[in-house]
Parts: sequence; structure tokens; C-alpha cells
Amino acid sequence: MNTPTLAVFKLASCDGCQLTVLDCEDELLTLAGRVRITHFLEASSAVRPGPYDVTLVEGSITTPADAERIRQIRAESRVLVAIGACATAGGIQALRNFGDVAEFASVVYARPDYIETLATSTAIADHVPVDFELRGCPIDRRQLLEVLTAFLAGRKPDLPDTSVCTECKRRGLTCVMVADGTPCLGPVTHAGCGALCPAYKRGCFGCFGPMTKPNVAALIPRLQECGMSEGDVERVFLTFNAASGGWSS
Ligand code: SF4
Ligand code: SF4
Ligand code: SF4
Repeated sequence: MNTPTLAVFKLASCDGCQLTVLDCEDELLTLAGRVRITHFLEASSAVRPGPYDVTLVEGSITTPADAERIRQIRAESRVLVAIGACATAGGIQALRNFGDVAEFASVVYARPDYIETLATSTAIADHVPVDFELRGCPIDRRQLLEVLTAFLAGRKPDLPDTSVCTECKRRGLTCVMVADGTPCLGPVTHAGCGALCPAYKRGCFGCFGPMTKPNVAALIPRLQECGMSEGDVERVFLTFNAASGGWSS
């Protein structure tokens, strides 16, 4: 049997999710006998052409070239996994979707006529079929390893589809919203980080994006009781996953 191949590609992103892949160095070395990494420019300039058995894609689609490239990557990938808020929801750069890109370019660049960009930043799934979306900004390494081992074993990843609150309770953490009046998006945010921020006595600010069917309307008055203004509430939902659409479902 041929050794399965793994590829990692980057589009518009900060590289943080790829660093999480690199952070799995020990586990990847263990996997090395079972998988061959054939394209991962963050780790090595030695690349081999596709097809690839499992492909991880970081980043969103922000240029006509990205839109073309993701179609090529999809065509060469048996399993395609979008990793991180950029790839699954357009990322922070999707704030452009609510503004005027031409105006932004004219303010930022000395020669905006050199810039070839789309008016929006969108998720990979808006362009090609995706086999799995791994949430987070950045992604969680334990979840990444579960996704990789699952697809290499030919099974579906077993990851929770609940809220950060469930992880918080499972860890036995004190609720920062109840105990300290700290605003927290945990009740509506997708699980996966292990309640990282509440573990450090901070409120969740939603970097894993909306959980399935979040009750945002019920949470907003509670956030306001904790001192957030209407503008604060609007801003906290307009961060890493502003364009996901899931917050309003
Ligand atoms: S999801 Fe966050 S950490 Fe990952 S590439 Fe995008 S901005 Fe960076
Ligand atoms: S601290 Fe946040 S995530 Fe934890 S239980 Fe309270 S509201 Fe939920
Ligand atoms: S607690 Fe919320 S903001 Fe913090 S890492 Fe988890 S999902 Fe992201």
C-alpha cells in the first residue's frame, strides 16, 4: 500500500494556523512512517506535485488568483480540510465585506492601481466543496491531530459540536460572567479550545466562531448587564468570524 500524502497550503492568512501544524512536530514525526508530507512551504521548500490524500488549507479567498488556486488545490486533493477562522469564515480580513475596498486600498497603498483584489474575503467552502472545517484563530493542536489521524484512518473526525460553556463546566472552571461580571461569548461560541480564556479568568471573545444554532439574542442582554454598550456588542461579534453568518442563525 502507498504511503498517504499530506499537503498544507496557505492563502490570505497570518500563518498562525500553520504554526499550530508545526507545533505538532513530535506527533508528526510519529506519524511520519504513516504519512508523507509532500507540500508544506512553511516547513520545507522541497515540494512534490499532487495528487494529495489529505490537504489542509489555511486562509481566505481575497484575490482572483486565490479563487483560481483553490479550484486547482481541490482538484488535486482527495480530502480537503479548511483550517482556522480565515479559511472557514473569511477571517478578520472579512471586515472588508462591510466597507469599500477601493477606498481602503487608496488609503493604504501608494499605488492602489497595482492592487488586484476582490471586494470580499470569503471562506474556502464558498468556492469549492470542503470535507471538514476546523475552527479557531488559531486552530487547536489536539483537534488538528484528531482530524489528521481520523482522515488518515478513513473515518470521520470525532469533535464536539457544542459551546465553550460545556468545556468550561467539564474543566470545573468558575464562570467569569457569573462570578465577576466579565462579558463572555462562551454560551454561543463553538467548542474546541478547551475554554482557554475562562481558564485564565478572561471572557471568551468568540474566536472559534458560532456554535450550531447559537442563541445570540438571549446572550446580548446579559453582555449589556456586564457593562457592554450596544457598540461594544456589535464590535465583539465583528471580529474573527464576522462574515460567517452563523451568529445571526
Ligand atoms: S485563523 Fe487566525 S491564526 Fe489562523 S491564519 Fe487566520 S488569522 Fe492566523
Ligand atoms: S466563563 Fe464563559 S464559557 Fe465559561 S461557563 Fe461562564 S459564560 Fe460559559
Ligand atoms: S475561549 Fe473563546 S476566545 Fe478564547 S480561545 Fe476559546 S473560543 Fe477563542
